[in-house]
Amino acid sequence: MASDISVSNNDSSLNLRRCTRCILPETYPRIDFDNNGVCNYCRAYNKIIYKNEHNFDLLLKSVHFQGNFDCVVPLSGGRDSTFVLHQMVRRYGLKPVAYNYDNGFVNPFAVQNMQAACNKLGVKLVRQTSRLHSIARKCFLKINLKKSPLHFLSTLCYGCQNTIWGGAMKLANEHGIPLIVSGESKIEEAEYKKIQLNQLQENTQDILKVALKSPFLYSFGKCAKMLFCLRYPSKETALNAVQTVRLFDYARYDEKQFLTALNDDLEWQSDKHTTWRFDCFIHNVILLMTYQLMGMTEWDDYCSVEIREDMMTRDAALERISRFADYRNQSLPKLDEILYQMELNQSERHKILSFVSQSPQLENKWGV
Ligand SMILES: [Zn+2]
Repeated sequence: MASDISVSNNDSSLNLRRCTRCILPETYPRIDFDNNGVCNYCRAYNKIIYKNEHNFDLLLKSVHFQGNFDCVVPLSGGRDSTFVLHQMVRRYGLKPVAYNYDNGFVNPFAVQNMQAACNKLGVKLVRQTSRLHSIARKCFLKINLKKSPLHFLSTLCYGCQNTIWGGAMKLANEHGIPLIVSGESKIEEAEYKKIQLNQLQENTQDILKVALKSPFLYSFGKCAKMLFCLRYPSKETALNAVQTVRLFDYARYDEKQFLTALNDDLEWQSDKHTTWRFDCFIHNVILLMTYQLMGMTEWDDYCSVEIREDMMTRDAALERISRFADYRNQSLPKLDEILYQMELNQSERHKILSFVSQSPQLENKWGV
């Protein structure tokens, strides 16, 4: 699947104006800078208040554990969820069961990490997949690609939250497990994603246009979505059904501590460019497309939060995002293969490849 698209290596994103405190660039949605060059996100930032690890101990004492497993840990093979699994066993002495949803794009490194961690910690690993999810995602990717690259980008993670949380909830219910402990954290709640999603509120005219243009795809997609939602409830429904806690609401999110524990105890590995979200290949597409739209990626966002949390220096953050150019050069040639696995046809793939291969759009189009 060789691509005939030539790649622009324009790295002018490095010349973007950036906040003098964090590293958010001028292309970030709704950003503004004061006279000192500090962005509105830094000015309005409130540091994360942790609930204290002692309260996590108290919470565990209040849970009535019975049966073979104490908790479900949704596991991706990435850094944060593997650390949570490690802590549940090594620090809190619980008997977790690890749950992984295989969306068809799991990085082999992540699979190795999951298997190695579960073997080492003596934890049962349950992996599930859903063809219905793949079908619904495929339909929505095709429909949204007809609208715009931003619509397509917004659909890439379609359904994974349902399958991860709905699957974890089902596992908990089947085995009478009272608790789900997740590795989600406030650090990773990128503000720009919410702003982008809000911009995608669709009107009836837009929906009708696509439905009339591709009636079969549209109706089939709707049916697949309905069946999928019956099988896998929304994240909110899943979370209300079983007691769920996020470890990093209690314990400080500390990347160095994670990596020390994981490398020393679990022989954990990551992609050579990043320890963030390398576990899913769809994420490569997300990073490349986000860069194209904004001249930045979520790396810039996470680093900026870590700077505000005094977890990273600004220079270290700039050094880290400078690695993206190399990541992009190595990821672009593999993109066609990933899109092919998403069952996109040649012209659909060409549309995406042409989009990500140009120089990034560096003007702020989000409005202040
Ligand atoms: Zn800032």
